[in-house]
Amino acid sequence: MPQQIPQSPGVCPQCGCTELFVRKDFPQKLGLGIVVLAAVSFLILAARPTTFYLGAWLLVAAVAVDAVFYFFVPRVITCYRCRFDLRNIPIDPAIGPFELATAEKYRAGRQ
Ligand SMILES: [Zn+2]
Repeated sequence: MPQQIPQSPGVCPQCGCTELFVRKDFPQKLGLGIVVLAAVSFLILAARPTTFYLGAWLLVAAVAVDAVFYFFVPRVITCYRCRFDLRNIPIDPAIGPFELATAEKYRAGRQ
């Protein structure tokens, strides 16, 4: 069975919830890995005056990699209630970014 295609992009096809948010479709572990790797490398390189500048450049490079990901990673629409990701559909400009207050409402409802 093919995945249901939502008729209206403002409704979750899994649970029918109408509260959705837009987020970057980026694996969080990979993002965290880049940050940790850059930080550890910087500390090692910065410990010696002769390699300090390499550490500084490494941090600049990490920021640049982050920026590249930010601009090129596609966005997905995610459901607040069931966290289902709606991919390959146009992003409705009416759908805003993640809001903690709305997420808390559904988190409380699950318990
Ligand atoms: Zn849902």
